[in-house]
Parts: sequence; structure tokens; C-alpha cells
Amino acid sequence: MLNIVLFGPPGAGKGTQSQKLLDKYNLIHLSTGDLLRSEIAAGTALGLEAKKLMDNGLLVPDEVVIGMIENKVKEHRQAAGFIFDGFPRTVPQAQGLDKLLQDNDTEISAMIALKVDDEELTKRLLLRGQTSGRPDDQNEELIRKRVNEYNTKTKPVADYYAGQGKYFAVDGIGEIEEIFNALCQHIDALKEKQEENK
Ligand code: ADP
Repeated sequence: MLNIVLFGPPGAGKGTQSQKLLDKYNLIHLSTGDLLRSEIAAGTALGLEAKKLMDNGLLVPDEVVIGMIENKVKEHRQAAGFIFDGFPRTVPQAQGLDKLLQDNDTEISAMIALKVDDEELTKRLLLRGQTSGRPDDQNEELIRKRVNEYNTKTKPVADYYAGQGKYFAVDGIGEIEEIFNALCQHIDALKEKQEENK
């Protein structure tokens, strides 16, 4: 299996690039942000709780997102692999994911980070807020809060994967196609290695 964690701050382009990668490598996309927004739209108890936190730019509890991901991984046991987008966002989530994949006889192949500076992120998110209808993209203070959550809780997740020799970074500023090609180079190299080890 090819299991990629696509990493980067809010607005880094994870959603855009995930879509392109899924098509090319035939992977299943697991975005905790999308899963949570579906729960909100469906008006579930989980969605109602999550909404309060999301509307304040705060993270949803680890157990909640790990549980959602576990269900999805189990639903797709036959998949060629997964792209995890917006997850894991804390070190306990990364540990939970490792355990869950291990229980399913697989593991993370790599984390690939999209690097974008804070100023560019705020610009992109405010622009997205004009059309996405996402309330968390329409307010500069909320955006700053999300970037702060990222810097304090999520950044350490990169060190977690670096410690396993699985961390790669790509410049997230430039043409969409150019960034996509850089991501594909890393993924193709991983696939070649997997083939060699078969
Ligand atoms: P973005 O990366 O642009 O902020 P997401 O759609 O990934 O957008 O996430 C939106 C919100 O959903 C986050 O601000 C957070 O409140 C919640 N969320 C998404 N994924 C997670 C996660 N893995 N752990 C905790 N909270 C999450």
C-alpha cells in the first residue's frame, strides 16, 4: 500500500494537490476536515460538537478524528493506498494512526509537507473565504488562530515522521502543476523502492 500524509498549514494547497494525486495514483482521499463538515451538514451529535470548535479555529479532540479515520480505513481494506489530508494534526493522532495501520498490516510510506509562509496563507484563505462559504475562512482573526494551532500542535508532527526517516518537503508556492510534479517525483521514488523490496 502507498499511504501518504500530505502535510502543511491551512491554505497550503493540500486539498488541490490531493485531488490530483488521487486521480494519478488511484488512492483513497481521507480529509478529516471534509469528514467533519459532512457530519455538520448531516446534523449529527458529533457534527454539532465539532462545529463549536471549528468555528473558533480550534482542533477537534484526537479520539474523535482517529475514530472517523479508523472507520474509513476499515471500509477500504482493498484500496491501493490512502492520502491523509489534514490528519494527523497532533502527535497523539500520528501515534494513533501508526497503531491503526499496523493493525491493518500496513504503514505510512511518507509524509510530504507543502511549505508556504504565513503571509501567503492568510491571503489565500481570505480569498477562498469569498467563494467557499466556509465560515472559518472569512475572518482574519480566526485564520490567525488556526495558523497558531498549526504552529503549536501540528508542526511537531513533522518531527515525528522525520524521526522515522519519512519526512519530505516541497515548495508550496508556484504553479499548481509545478508543485504537483515535485510531489509526484517523491511518490514515484517511493513506489520504486517498494517495488525493489517486494
Ligand atoms: P484547513 O486545513 O484549511 O484549516 P480543514 O478542512 O483541514 O481545513 O480543517 C478545518 C477545521 O476542522 C480545523 O480548523 C479543525 O477545527 C478541524 N479539524 C480538521 N482535521 C482535524 C484533525 N485531524 N484534528 C483536529 N481537528 C481537525
